[in-house]
Order: sequence, then C-alpha cells, then structure tokens
Amino acid sequence: MKRKNFIIKSIIGTAGLSYFSSTLSAFNTTKTLKTSEMSKENSDIFPLTIATWNFPNASKRAGELLAKGTTALDAVEQGVMVEEADIKNTTVGKGGAPDRDGNVTLDACIMSPSGDAGAVVYLKHTFKAASVARKVMEETPHVMLAGEGADLFAAQQGFEKEELFTESAKKDYEKWLVKKEYKPIINIENHDTIGMLCIDENGDLAGACTSSGLSYKVNGRIGDSPIIGSGLFLDNEIGGAVATGMGEAIMKSVGSFLIVELMRQGKSPQEACEEAINRIIKANPNYKEFQAAFIAVNKKGEIGSHCIQKGFSYVKFQYGKNENIPSSYNF
Ligand code: ASP
Repeated sequence: MKRKNFIIKSIIGTAGLSYFSSTLSAFNTTKTLKTSEMSKENSDIFPLTIATWNFPNASKRAGELLAKGTTALDAVEQGVMVEEADIKNTTVGKGGAPDRDGNVTLDACIMSPSGDAGAVVYLKHTFKAASVARKVMEETPHVMLAGEGADLFAAQQGFEKEELFTESAKKDYEKWLVKKEYKPIINIENHDTIGMLCIDENGDLAGACTSSGLSYKVNGRIGDSPIIGSGLFLDNEIGGAVATGMGEAIMKSVGSFLIVELMRQGKSPQEACEEAINRIIKANPNYKEFQAAFIAVNKKGEIGSHCIQKGFSYVKFQYGKNENIPSSYNF
C-alpha cells in the first residue's frame, strides 16, 4: 500500500475517505495545471539535470532518461545510482570510505514533485541507498529509517545484500589507521556526495542526495545528505537545492530549505545560494577550514551555485550534453 493511502486510511478510516480523497485530488489538479502551464513556457529548456561536482556519467544517465520521457523521480534515482555503484568513488555508495571503526555506512534521501520524501541513514548492506530511500517514501508511512531497521527493510524490499567495504577502501583505511588524522582535505577528500536535481519534460522537479558521509567519521555520525531541508529540499512550484561539503555546518543552517524559501521570496537561485553560504560563514568562525557548497534550480530553469572555497563545480546536462561549470566562491 502506498504511504499516502496508508496514512489516510489509518487517520480517518474508510468513512471519511471519499471526502478526503476528493479534496486531495482537487489540490493535485491545481498543482498539475500550474506545472503544465509552466512547462509550455519552458518547453525549450526542459528536461534539465544538475548535480554536485563533476559526475558526468550520472548526469548523462539521468539526462538521457529524461530525454526519453522518463519522470524526474525515476531519472534522479537512476542518475545517482551510477555513482553509488562506482567503486572508484570513495564517498558515495559501494567503495565509500568507512568510519574510524571500519564500518561503511550510507546516507541518502529523495524527494518527489509532490513534496513527498524518503531517507535512510547508517545503511550497511546495499549500495542503492537512494532507491531504498524511495521505497521508504513509497511503501511505508515514514520518512526515515536508520541502521539495522533500514537494512532489514531493504532486504524485505528485495535489495540484494552486498559487501560495501572494497579492497581498495580497506587499503586506504589501513593507511589511515597509522596516523588517525581526522581533517578533510578541502575539495579533494571526503567531498564527493552526489546531490542531483532533475526537471522532466512536464516541468516537474525531483531530487536525491546520497553519500557515505565524511571519511573516518565517528561511528554513528550522520551528515546533512539524508536530512530533508539540509542536504536536499524542493518545492515543485518554486525550485530545489542540494548541498555537499561539511555536513555539520550545512545541517545547522538547514541550507537547502533556506535556499528554496529565499527563491520563494523572489531571490534568484544564485542569490539564494550566496545567502546560504554567507550564513554558514557567519555562524562558523573556522569556515576557512572546510568546504560547503550548494546548487539550486528554479522552475524557470535558472541555475545557481555558490561555495566557500574555490574548487567546487557542478555538472549540467541539457540539450543532449554535459557541461561542467565552476561554482562562484567566497575565498
Ligand atoms: N555532506 C556530506 C556529509 O557531511 C559530505 C560531503 O558532501 O562531502 O556527510
């Protein structure tokens, strides 16, 4: 049973269901009309995919699916999965670096155009973290599952049990154990989270964010990536934002939510990303020691991106091709 029906049934019982459903479908019709009006205006710029860092294979996968008419939600899930499956990427999915106790744990979230959301944290046995998050969204009455429960749920949903700790990640971990240094190298280490936003040909927006979090983090640490509002937020009538970088700073500013709300108030995606980064700088005296970055898109297809330190870029897939675009920055 899909989550919305589950909630409706549990809350109001079958007696009130028909009134509730018709109200809900009237609301959805209004939203759909707005979206298709918008897409007519912008049919030349959609579909559109943007993603953090330079992950050309992921954005291409999503973009090519969108070009075939795939929905934004399906495209974003399949797009980020390219990185989740890539064992060379040491901070997303399989091949991700472990925590300081040797556990590879994955965090992810996903949002649909309806504003529905799902998330998993401390997932240990499947690399398809964004897909498990989607199952949480669609098949349970909840938004987030953690740890053992998340893995059990994934197994029940048919996800194959996998070993996420690769030989190469083990070698790096053994080297790390010698020094036990816990200081991310800005833009090089620990910063490869993929956050992706897709707008499909109907003008509908979906997003996903997936990560193994900071390398050699304290066992149990969760970053911003799976937190709705921090690592990802969208409103299908306004636009969306995703984050990468130091999760602690991003979480404290609820950065992705902030950006969408600033766009709602009339700021461009670029102005909104700059404001979110400025707030992080203001709140963190040690801001020069870490990276934080946002990318955002609004419903006109305008894109923004800003980060603290030079060196962050994002990838855009539009008109059948990828473009890697350097972000603006403060320092
Ligand atoms: N935001 C991620 C986290 O803090 C890491 C990153 O994007 O570099 O877990």
